[in-house]
Parts: sequence; C-alpha cells; structure tokens
Amino acid sequence: MTGGHFDLLIRGGDLADGTGAPLLPKDVGIAAGLVTILPAGATATARRVHDATRQVVAPGFIDAHTHSDQTNLNGLGEAQAHAAVLQGVTVEICGNCGDSAFPGHYRDLAAFARAHAASGRANHLVSLVGHGTLRGSVVGHANRAATAQELAQMCRLLDEALTAGAAGLSSGLIYTPGSYADTAEVTALAAVAARHRKPYVTHLRDEMSHVDAALDEAVRIARDSGAALHVSHHKTAGTYAWGGTLRTLPHLERLRAQGLDVTCDVYPYTAGSTALAAMLPPWAHDGGPQSLLARLRDPAARAGMRAAIAEGVPGWENTVGNGGWDRISVAGAGRQPWLQGRTIAQIAAERDAEAIDVVAELLLAEDGDVTIISHSMREDDVQRVLSAPFSMIGSDGVPKPGLPHPRWAGTFARVLGHYTRDLALFSLPEAVRKMTQASAARFGLTGRGVLRDGAPADLVVFDPATVADRATFADPLLSPVGIRLVVVDGTVVVEEGTVTAARPGRVLAC
Ligand SMILES: [Zn+2]
Repeated sequence: MTGGHFDLLIRGGDLADGTGAPLLPKDVGIAAGLVTILPAGATATARRVHDATRQVVAPGFIDAHTHSDQTNLNGLGEAQAHAAVLQGVTVEICGNCGDSAFPGHYRDLAAFARAHAASGRANHLVSLVGHGTLRGSVVGHANRAATAQELAQMCRLLDEALTAGAAGLSSGLIYTPGSYADTAEVTALAAVAARHRKPYVTHLRDEMSHVDAALDEAVRIARDSGAALHVSHHKTAGTYAWGGTLRTLPHLERLRAQGLDVTCDVYPYTAGSTALAAMLPPWAHDGGPQSLLARLRDPAARAGMRAAIAEGVPGWENTVGNGGWDRISVAGAGRQPWLQGRTIAQIAAERDAEAIDVVAELLLAEDGDVTIISHSMREDDVQRVLSAPFSMIGSDGVPKPGLPHPRWAGTFARVLGHYTRDLALFSLPEAVRKMTQASAARFGLTGRGVLRDGAPADLVVFDPATVADRATFADPLLSPVGIRLVVVDGTVVVEEGTVTAARPGRVLAC
C-alpha cells in the first residue's frame, strides 16, 4: 500500500501490534476506519500526519473489567466518563460482577445500545450479562433457591441477551442477590453461555481466607457447564490470604495445562473498592435494599451484624473480619462528603462509637449508597497476578461520585509506566498484549486487539519514556501523562491528553 492515501498517517513510531511480538518500526495508515501497516518511511500521503517518533503505536486498550455500564448516561460528568479513553482504552467490558444494566434497568441489549447511542460515546462498550441482574429480575431479592421454573426463565433471558451480542455471563457471588444462588444454579446458566461459546466470568464467592474453595467452585462450574472460565480481578486479599497467589496461580496454570480454558484479569493496586453494604452478612440483605435499611434501624439486628463480622458466617466472605475497619475508607458518600477519604475506624474513634453503628448511620443517611476502598492486598500478590501469562488488565473501575478508587483513571498508564518501565515486571510488548489481544480473545472481540492490515482502527499512541498514571486516592480522576493520540474506528478521540468532540463509540455486539 506504499503510495496510498490515508485519512490519518502515524509515522515514525514503533509498533506493538498486540500479539506480544517485539517492537518494530512501522508507519500506520488509516482509511475508512481500517488499518494498513506500512514499512517505516513509506511514501504515503494523508490528510493528517501524526509524527510518532520515539512513540509506541498499539491497538487501543481493551479494559477487561469495568463497572462503567452507565457512566456517560447518569450525569457523573466528563472526568468520570472519559477516564478510560484518556488512558487509551478503546473498548470497555462492563456488566461485571453479576451486575449488568439489562435485562432490568434497560429491557435488553438493544435498548442499552440505543441509550448509549443517544448519549454519545468516545469509545466502545461491550457488556456481559449479570447473574445477579437475571436473578433480581426473576426471583427478586429473596434469600432462597430459585425454583426450576425461575431458573428456566433466567436461562431464557440469558440466551436472548447472548444471542443479541452480550459477551458472556458474569457472576458476583459475594453480592446479593447473586450470593443466594447455589453452584447448580450458576452451572445451569454457564451452560447457556457455553452453548454460545462465551465465557463464564466470575467475581469469586470468596477472595479472602476461603479463596481456594471459591476457586474450586468456579472450576467446577466451568467443567460441568463446558464454559470457559474467567476469574475477575484475581486477588488473595485479607491478612489470612496474603501470599495465597503462590497457590492459586500455579493451580490455574495446572488447570490450563490440563486443557481448561481459564484466564483472569487484574488491576495494579493493593486496594479494592466496593459497596459499604457488602461488608454486612448476606442475611442482612434478605428482601432487598429497603429491608437492609430497616434492619440497620433495629438495634438487635445491628448487634447481629456486629457478631457476624466478629465470628464469621459459613459461606460468606467477611471482608472486615479478614482485615478490620481501619482498612476500610469511605470513597463515596454523596450527602456527607467530609467523610470521604477517612477510615471507618477513624470515624468511630472520633465519635467514640462502635464501628457497626457508624456504618449503620452512614448507610441510613445515604439510602444505602456508599462506596468504600478496602486496603486489603499485598504488593507481591498483585505483582504475581500481573505477571501471570494468562492474566490481562482490567481496571475494575467503579465510576462513582466522591473519591472513587484511582484505578478507573490510572490502571493502564500505571501498568505501562510503573510496572513495565520502572519495575520491568514484563516487556512492553507483553504489557500491551495483556491490554489488547488477550482481552479481545477472551471476550470474542473479533478483529480488534491486534493491529494488522484491515483491522478496525482502534489504536493508541503513547510515549514509553514518560507514560505514567497521576490518579491518587486523594485526587482519583487525574488523567495520565504520555498518551499522545487515541483513535476509535479511525476517528481521533483523544489528542495530547484532551478528548475531542468526536463520538464514534458504540455498544459492540460479540
Ligand atoms: Zn467484582
């Protein structure tokens, strides 16, 4: 194609094509939304030329794990809506941890896609179907097994959504109402995903002291259903599980050697983030959010929750019991923003109050909607998961008001800067592969994730010498440095750190 004419020519850069192959000096031409790889210095012309000297040209990053289902629909603002694309993310995989926007909030994938089309997106979105969402819409929020009829209805809804183009089934087995399901229920649903050759993606029932048993359950579900298994944000968190990746990763490696298709994603931080309500035992949620608030008003029920946290409940991941309230800080509390950034233990000490009472008052004041950050992991575990050849990068971004976890705005730049360049945990082409081809293959994004002739022109150009995250727990939405250009389907959506007016993004069907 030397001598061709392009809409955009990216000249003089080093190509990391997404496969993990070594960097190669190549020019990249884009015409009609598609990529042409050119020899370095090819004599092509273009309407616009980007000089990529000393820069890396890579496929657009695919964020394997987000909770950004409605980020640009719910008025959270530009910084939240664009935090991913400003890092070079051209596809976000949402609908994770058992929670999707359909069927429920939106009737189906088509309605979800229409809402995003109407609102306008810079980058693409792909959604899984949440098991908790399916269960909530069919069974409600009751703490009981699904009837055969209800399970059949969940399977029908899942089948429809996968046929329409959802990327797989997700579960979040620490979250109600998904946590009320037994293994057989999830296996039946995973079998529907298997028929579509789509993965079963799971936030394990326990990522702390019982992580090995929870992983065994996931493997059983995959084996019995025939679905590929993807472990979300793999970690071994809480003081009792620190070092646990020394067991879980070799275990996953052995399963892969035996032929099980199992992968995982990971974010590059030692802190997690979730809902404050998830710190309370499952029975506290029985009946749904209003029932939880009623129990929080009841001193006897509060005492029961305090005892459950102190003593544990079989089958329940007890985050606080695995760490303590001094590791849990408030991330988002819309009506009491002055509490954001402080730990529950600090607030309790200041008020001379019991932690459970602080938690109850906080949830009651915010109608149950409080996000937290949990400083629960150890750095060596995080690095081990990042380094695993079968792990890919997912931010687990939870775009929420307040001081959300910095991973939403920092993950990809942090892996490229801190972990790849500064710590040399892996090579740059390998880092790019974990952000592109690996996720595209896992979630069935045909044609994306590798820069080759004829591929959709989703790409990112960054400066490997300076790329770095700036988002912190105190200033969590600061965009990274070093991202020069982001292109979605041939249209420039970010240049030199600024989002352009173009909105070529859409909900993709898989
Ligand atoms: Zn999760």
